[in-house]
Amino acid sequence: MKTISIDLGGSNVKMGIVEDGKVLQYTSIRSNSGDGLMPLLPEIERVCRAWCAQHTVAAIGFAFPSLVDVKEKRILGHNGKFPDYEQIDLEHWVRDRFGLPMFIDNDAAAAALGEGHYGSAADTDDFVLMILGTGIGAAASMGGQLLRGKHYQAVSMFGHIPLKVDGRSCTGCPGVGCAEAQASTWALQHMVEESPLDSPLKAEETVDFKCLKQYYDCRDPLAVAIFEECCAYWANCLIAMVYAYDPEVVVLSGGVIQWGAELTDRLAQVVEQRAWTPWGKLQFRLAHNPEQSVLLGLHALCIEGL
Ligand SMILES: [Zn+2]
Repeated sequence: MKTISIDLGGSNVKMGIVEDGKVLQYTSIRSNSGDGLMPLLPEIERVCRAWCAQHTVAAIGFAFPSLVDVKEKRILGHNGKFPDYEQIDLEHWVRDRFGLPMFIDNDAAAAALGEGHYGSAADTDDFVLMILGTGIGAAASMGGQLLRGKHYQAVSMFGHIPLKVDGRSCTGCPGVGCAEAQASTWALQHMVEESPLDSPLKAEETVDFKCLKQYYDCRDPLAVAIFEECCAYWANCLIAMVYAYDPEVVVLSGGVIQWGAELTDRLAQVVEQRAWTPWGKLQFRLAHNPEQSVLLGLHALCIEGL
């Protein structure tokens, strides 16, 4: 069975036609989510029409970077991304244009479905996923089922768990000192500016994890200090997840996984030191297919829903 997956990301819309856990065709469209979804729909429609002409497509799945009511197929909030969502009925748009069923999920939840069905968590029923990048996304699958909660808010807001009482004000939630405000891409610029350490990193116009990694690899003291501070926050976040969900495996994804085993080893070490897990050691893994796990997860969501 073939389905189309559409990952509505902040700077790119990734699209793929997926069959049996494989992305057969892939494209990405530049997006500026602050401008809304409406300007992107004609291009999304053009790609879907081309694929529907070549393949028998059973459904179209969307991933949205905020809260989603999976049952009612409604977006519940936007956090500044695609603020025009209330004006668009995506289910109606898909049915009207293509005569197909539509499914929608939060992006981190879709990534967890992808890694759970076809990726690094395929051999376990109990895992948590953390996407460390522009923001912090999270999902938990227990007993083979994604935890969603009464209002579809469970786990997905884990990046907004408050960690520092007098921390930064968050742009993604009303909170202060949450994980995302202390250790995500948008926090990096503040961390660089606030540090007393001297470094050429301070002259960079924008600092993201790719840029930080380049300095880190040259052992720049500021880059090393920032990475270590981020790891401390992420580890605390993970310890909270361990106590909340009792997973067997942690899957890490997002821009930060370019640190590879250095990241998993570091986080595993801190969590092992500071979390009480008398049953043994938590397993840390990198996402098998970080670029495509959302697309694969939407395929699984469509199959489950049909
Ligand atoms: Zn927050």
